[in-house]
Amino acid sequence: MEENSTINGDEMFQLMEKLYPICRSITGDGVRETLEIIKKEIPLKIHEVPTEKKVFDWTIPKEWNINDAYIIDPHGKKVVDFQKSNLHVLNYSIPIDQKISFSELKKHIHTIPEKPDLIPYVTSYYSENWGFCMTHNNFLKLKEGEYTVKIDSKLEEGSLTYGEFLISGKSEFEILLSCYVCHPSMCNDNLSGIVLLTQIAKHFKDLKNHYSIRFIFIPETIGAITWIHQNESNLSKIKHGLVATCLGDSGKFTYKKSRQGNAEIDKTVIKILKKSKVKFKTVDFFPWGSDERQFCSPGFDLPIGSLMRSMYGTEDFPEYHTSGDNLEYIKKESLEESFEKYLEIIKSLDKNKPDINFRNIKRKISKNSKLHKNLIQKCEPQLGKRGIYRILGGQNNNFEKRKNEFAIFWVLNLSDGTNSLEDIANRSNLPLKLIENAANILIEKHLLK
Ligand code: ZN
Repeated sequence: MEENSTINGDEMFQLMEKLYPICRSITGDGVRETLEIIKKEIPLKIHEVPTEKKVFDWTIPKEWNINDAYIIDPHGKKVVDFQKSNLHVLNYSIPIDQKISFSELKKHIHTIPEKPDLIPYVTSYYSENWGFCMTHNNFLKLKEGEYTVKIDSKLEEGSLTYGEFLISGKSEFEILLSCYVCHPSMCNDNLSGIVLLTQIAKHFKDLKNHYSIRFIFIPETIGAITWIHQNESNLSKIKHGLVATCLGDSGKFTYKKSRQGNAEIDKTVIKILKKSKVKFKTVDFFPWGSDERQFCSPGFDLPIGSLMRSMYGTEDFPEYHTSGDNLEYIKKESLEESFEKYLEIIKSLDKNKPDINFRNIKRKISKNSKLHKNLIQKCEPQLGKRGIYRILGGQNNNFEKRKNEFAIFWVLNLSDGTNSLEDIANRSNLPLKLIENAANILIEKHLLK
């Protein structure tokens, strides 16, 4: 056991080292290169879904690729260089090649003044824009004058890429394990999930389990929505699932429950964590975060939770979405321990075979016409195109500042015809006024009735 343990930790870390330098995004060659590397480990099937295809309320965007990006200061010195860190470019930047003044340039630079030595990770997928990210300390060194900015990127017709691998069990019922493949060079938030699922797949691929186990490697949000759209008729086979992310840091485990809250997966994860006597915390489902928010949208409400270590967007993980989430931040032993927990959870589910008595629970949809109902039940509606979502992604993890946005997510997620606005306020712990306000915005935008 001990020896095996080291092997698994080493293998996962080595794979992470290979994947770390690649500049990924929600589409493009970075995702393809990543999936090709994983394909050397497990027989991944790679899918391409074309630009412009409608997937529920969303549309596959143009494909983004980048060669280079830099800023040259008035003295001819390269002060920002994509070749040194792919976080330096606003992810999905349109191409630019210009000389501009410092005051103009400043509008396109992102920093984190509170973490002045870290480069932030910022995205602009659905609003065409360009920009650079740098440490605040280096930004303070920039002087007035004329700068040269160049982003050698392409945004054109192409496709969205994702990977999938199914290990057939005795039963056609499935355990779904999902991770995302869209972040550039960051380890805990993103690569840890990829290397963990690859290792789990390697472990189980020649074993005959009761359950079939499906692994998906998808771009976050749009990739999850696309995958669900392409596989809608098979979703009823999914009996349990986990979204794997943030699994390589030295913090304690965090389990985010499924929307159902008391599904077999929730009970099993908590049972395994308790049994192993590791420190952990559980958090109730909340309708933002990673792809569980699509799997658990009211139209599907799948029993899918997320087992992490230090959770994104919390004080436990200040390096989240910055250059601080690098290879040094990852501990092999933590990856190893996470791997073991996932293994035990899968084995426990497999042993219990709860699906033998499994009935698909018909969700009772109330006829009470006074209750609000979300008009798009399948995955999230695309709020950005309706002007009710912040334009830039990545940073902005401040709960207070994002309260209005969170209220909108809660109303959308819980307006399935069974909850009143008071119920939603109670479950979300947000003031009723905020929830009412969110409901009014959504009614105005024809997303709620
Ligand atoms: Zn992230």
